[in-house]
Amino acid sequence: MTLLPNSAQARDVAYLLHPATNARKHERTGPIVMARGEGIHVYDDAGNRYVEAMAGLWSVAVGFGEPRLVDAAARQMGRLPYYHSFSGKSSEPTIDLAERLVKMSPVGLDRVFFTNSGSEANDTVVKLVWFYNNAIGRPEKKKFIARQNGYHGITIASGSLTGLPTNHRGFDLPLPQMKHVSCPHHYRYAHEGEGEEAFADRLAAELEARILEEGPETVAAFIGEPLIGAGGVLPPPATYWEKVQAVCRRHDVLVVADEVINGFGRLGTMFACDHYGIRPDVLVVSKQLTSSYMPIAAVLFSDAIYQGVADGSDRLGTFGHGFTASGHPVAAAVAMENLDIIEERGLVANAAAMGEHLRARLAPFADHPLVGEVRGAGLIAAVELVADRATKAKFDPVGAVGAWFYARAHDHGLIIRAVGDSICFCPPLIVTAADIDDIVDRFAAVLEETAAWVA
Ligand code: PLP
Repeated sequence: MTLLPNSAQARDVAYLLHPATNARKHERTGPIVMARGEGIHVYDDAGNRYVEAMAGLWSVAVGFGEPRLVDAAARQMGRLPYYHSFSGKSSEPTIDLAERLVKMSPVGLDRVFFTNSGSEANDTVVKLVWFYNNAIGRPEKKKFIARQNGYHGITIASGSLTGLPTNHRGFDLPLPQMKHVSCPHHYRYAHEGEGEEAFADRLAAELEARILEEGPETVAAFIGEPLIGAGGVLPPPATYWEKVQAVCRRHDVLVVADEVINGFGRLGTMFACDHYGIRPDVLVVSKQLTSSYMPIAAVLFSDAIYQGVADGSDRLGTFGHGFTASGHPVAAAVAMENLDIIEERGLVANAAAMGEHLRARLAPFADHPLVGEVRGAGLIAAVELVADRATKAKFDPVGAVGAWFYARAHDHGLIIRAVGDSICFCPPLIVTAADIDDIVDRFAAVLEETAAWVA
């Protein structure tokens, strides 16, 4: 493809290194440059309209172009565009948001630490837990256990917690303190004839064996997304969370719920912890907190952790961690307005209802010759394409069909995500039944083209 000299596409190729992109391939194809957005749609600079069935990166809950968020940002910009929260300074939106998050979060979480991104938040979790265990006199208890196919970010520590080879290869990750246990995806990893609960039993036993093998005195925390998102939309098997939590409690291992995608209504409940009955010691949120209009993430944690950390900071003279923009007042003000919109417009209930509709519309595709599994919970779903339905064999190479599907979907004005050969859906929480029908109709058309291409 020839890029017009001085076009945005040519300048992009000349100056940018893109995240999560094959740089050489990108030099040949150039970017799709998005120009504006409205509701569940975005428009590129050539005027093409796309249904954003991924809500950006799983995050634009209230849709694009929401004037209330623009106004909230402008108001706060005019009043106090920035202040930090180092050395005892604060600002009102930051305090308001911390109080609101504590009050709305699952019981037992009492304190908030703000960061700019989910990755920084998970790095903060690691450092917080390490600092806490040092402070309360158990410096050996430092290891984290995460899951294969889990996603927790890409910084050194959070990238180590992530269980995807694509985020480790070439980066010398993971760190040795970060361990991984099996992925809780029943379709792919259950034994022949093993039911969901038996699979959950086996995974809980594996976790316990791993903790005992490492030595419980060395294992600080278990981290997981209640429903795995970026790893391919993988809901856990029934009873999984109650069983792994019981194992963690037996060995004094903290439970960290990473709700960066799940939080604020995605599963049809305010938090996925409510959906799965998780009582975390630490909860991580971001993305839908501001609908990604401003970057912010939050780590919520228990009073027990706070007390240990507070004592440690007193002994050492400070809690020597934080970011220039931790608790940024403009991001906090946008988050407050965004949470107001989610509540006032009943978007959590809408996600539950529209999720049901999405899953009902996708269910018949389970019989399609190219489809191995249709899965999801709340308003997040995936359809896994396979080479052979009977054996569940993947395409060779994995991801080529997904990539083809992803590109064709653009031609049909549909933005989905292909994780390997799983086609993922995570539309804004504002979707209507007609929007869902439109998304599924476009998906069906691309699926038929894909079937013809594969044949
Ligand atoms: N945790 C989860 C569950 C995520 O899905 C993501 C991003 O997709 C992250 C952490 C990292 O967030 P960020 O990209 O803001 O660093």
